Amino acid sequence: MAAAHRLTELEPTVRLTLFEASDRLGGVLKTTSQDGFLVEGGADNFITTAPWALDLCRRIGFSEQLLRTNPNFRHAFVVRRGRIHPIPDGFVVMAPNKIGPILSTPILSPLGKLRLAWERFIPRREENDDESLASFCRRRLGRETYERLVQPLIGGIYTGDPEKLSLRATMPRFAEMERSHGSLIRALRSVRKPAESSSGARYSMFVAPSDGMTSLVNAIAGRLPPESVQRNARVSELTSTSKGWRVTIAESEDTQEYDAVILATPAAAAARLTAPLDSDLSDALGKIEHASCSIVSLGYRRAQVSHPLDGFGVVAPRIEKRRVLSASFSSIKYAGRAPDDCVLIRVFVGGACQPELAALPQDQLLNLAAEELHDLLGVQGAPCFTHVSRHTAAMPQYYIGHIENTRRIADRLQRHSKLFMAGNFLDGVGLPNCIHSGERAAESVAAAFAGALL
Ligand SMILES: Cc1cc2nc3c(=O)[nH]c(=O)nc-3n(C[C@H](O)[C@H](O)[C@H](O)COP(=O)(O)OP(=O)(O)OC[C@H]3O[C@@H](n4cnc5c(N)ncnc54)[C@H](O)[C@@H]3O)c2cc1C
Repeated sequence: MAAAHRLTELEPTVRLTLFEASDRLGGVLKTTSQDGFLVEGGADNFITTAPWALDLCRRIGFSEQLLRTNPNFRHAFVVRRGRIHPIPDGFVVMAPNKIGPILSTPILSPLGKLRLAWERFIPRREENDDESLASFCRRRLGRETYERLVQPLIGGIYTGDPEKLSLRATMPRFAEMERSHGSLIRALRSVRKPAESSSGARYSMFVAPSDGMTSLVNAIAGRLPPESVQRNARVSELTSTSKGWRVTIAESEDTQEYDAVILATPAAAAARLTAPLDSDLSDALGKIEHASCSIVSLGYRRAQVSHPLDGFGVVAPRIEKRRVLSASFSSIKYAGRAPDDCVLIRVFVGGACQPELAALPQDQLLNLAAEELHDLLGVQGAPCFTHVSRHTAAMPQYYIGHIENTRRIADRLQRHSKLFMAGNFLDGVGLPNCIHSGERAAESVAAAFAGALL
């Protein structure tokens, strides 16, 4: 959608069609409003420090509809020995930029804290090849900080296994910090504080549409040319022709001709579509593994929850052997997610390390999530609202080798005139990156035709 929209910005008279396999737009983004709850089935917010999603919202007149996160509780919790504790203030995914909160946290032992503080004296790695997030983190911060803080935080972002995730592909900023400053702690001290902590900033570090992600999807769709969107139109074949591309739609077997094509499906669908054209390209796309997860959203009366819920959510380290990856306190994070006397909690289950749990039947998922919330937050009784959304093979995992693999994809694409790609399997899974990848693909199309797309 970002690609289609950008193309119409660049070439307002372009004839374009957006083929969508399902009966609705938005892919992973899907908001449900029911019984006074507003539930996100997939992404529930986006980061503003990567500019592309916010920029798009501004350009389409949507920025007034973006909510800031609740300024009273901008922190999260982590589980330790079955109890939940605040993540030390200033701990940014992989490194601390404040020492006081680290010294006082019960999450790390005295030895773990010492080892973390020693980070500034650990020499930089001389080898220039990629390494896993886990290896980088253990090497610089020590095993305990990795297991107790970094692993659950990364697990929460990528639903992934940091032992396999590539540092350079997922968190290049930290590799660069080591390279430039020789230490994460020194590097973090030298940079300005993020927008989140500067009071009075127009946007918080994360924002969400007040009426949910589907309202953003609708706002973008509303800016596309009428008749340009075809739902229930799964592209089944892509054929190169002398003039460009022939697109075949599965159900109708209808074919249409275009000068250029942007493939913005998930990687597996792109691999299938490109297999007859280029087996190397298809192989490279097929190599990208994906994790599955299920989100169980539970609504409770506020009085049913004994924990004060004075944060945005809780993440669970693997060594705690819990059956959930994380729980997000949706109605605390953003206004308007639950009726006044209720709370909405979204529980993430599965991911790369517990795929069997994501696939449990619905009743078992609901029980599992409710039991975990009982243990962790002291939730009593049955939820007054439930919702389950499943994401099968939906989260690309940027394993070691991903950068080389995406280079191979880019190289192979060069051999196919006017064929472009976008999506979360290339250069970032977050919404801003996905939007950026779509917009860049549209810009490449416009550049390839230099105004001749009529
Ligand atoms: C559970 C979950 C929570 C997340 N939370 C966040 C978050 O809070 N913040 C954030 O920034 N990011 C988040 N992400 C990541 C982000 O939402 C996704 O990476 C992003 O939305 C993916 O967008 P996409 O367009 O690449 O793919 P998709 O959303 O998967 O869209 C691909 C589309 O292609 C269609 N399609 C597939 N095959 C065909 C075909 N043959 N023909 C036509 N159409 C086809 C599909 O139906 C689909 O609509 C989350 C992801 C998941 C799974």
